[in-house]
Amino acid sequence: MTAKLIKGTEIREEILEEITKEVQEIKEKHGVVPGLVTILVGSSPASISYVTLKIKTAHRVGFTEVQDDQPVDISEADLLALIDKYNNDDSINGILVQLPLPKHIDEKKVLNAIDPDKDVDGFHPVNVGRLMIGGDEVKFPPCTPFGIQEMIIRAGVETSGAEVVVVGRSNIVGKPIANMMVQKGPGANSTVTIVHTRTKDLAAHCQRADILIVAAGVPDLVKPEWIKPGACVIDVGVNRVGEKISEKTGKTIAILKGDVDFDAAKEIAGYITPVPGGVGPMTITMLMLNTLKSLKFKLGLM
Ligand code: NAP
Repeated sequence: MTAKLIKGTEIREEILEEITKEVQEIKEKHGVVPGLVTILVGSSPASISYVTLKIKTAHRVGFTEVQDDQPVDISEADLLALIDKYNNDDSINGILVQLPLPKHIDEKKVLNAIDPDKDVDGFHPVNVGRLMIGGDEVKFPPCTPFGIQEMIIRAGVETSGAEVVVVGRSNIVGKPIANMMVQKGPGANSTVTIVHTRTKDLAAHCQRADILIVAAGVPDLVKPEWIKPGACVIDVGVNRVGEKISEKTGKTIAILKGDVDFDAAKEIAGYITPVPGGVGPMTITMLMLNTLKSLKFKLGLM
């Protein structure tokens, strides 16, 4: 069997097109577009490249983008005051603070200062609670799990009654995606198991999975014999396993590998996400969707 590839790069294009269209319609009817502020503290090259991509995507879909770069030695009080300013700015629907923050700043305090109704990353405890309650309470699912669920839905994989096994219990991927898949509603209604480093028989749990979601950060952790024939395998892992020279640019780039032995797994699974080009492109896409949703909530369109 050769699995159907679920390509995040293609689904991203579909969703960004849909967002662009909706932004245009809202602009025509209501005279406003979503506003996203990205706050970058310091100048770490990795953070700059993430923020640059977010800004570029926001421009592409027609948002107003405010880029607020702050020096690495900004005080915690000044950063909190800045967040307060954007909390009270009517033109801003989403506030994004690029992590990690410098050591002298309490990250938790900063994230918790964001108005939950502008927390498009979905990390504020209020949004975590809303996600746990489910249904109409949910405002902003965290972007990576939101992307994973959307990929499963758009691939046409049946989730109702499916055995879902999630490898990993982090707050940003494992726990929220498990919570989302167990809720009542489309793309969910699954029977969910979460496994982690203390799980006794990882292989046996994975072998039961109709949908196997792997977010461990361990290259090739999931062996082909752990995969149920025909299962949907979502590989969230992004592991740098070496470097190579890019054929396109001639520059040195990282060799990335997922948590699943892709070449062997694709012969057994029914659906599989590649790494790179699978879950990765979905995160920023869903950040854009959450920002659009934020404006729609404000306008009473949702
Ligand atoms: P994390 O916070 O390090 O959590 C990893 C989880 O996996 C932990 O719960 C850990 O269990 C579990 N785990 C690790 N090794 C295991 C093993 N050998 N057997 C069973 N469970 C194991 O990582 P994360 O932030 O969730 O990220 C996971 C992976 O996804 C990383 O590769 C990350 O780069 C990638 N990621 C990708 C995206 C994206 O593509 N957009 C977004 C986020 C993350 P314990 O809790 O017991 O330690």
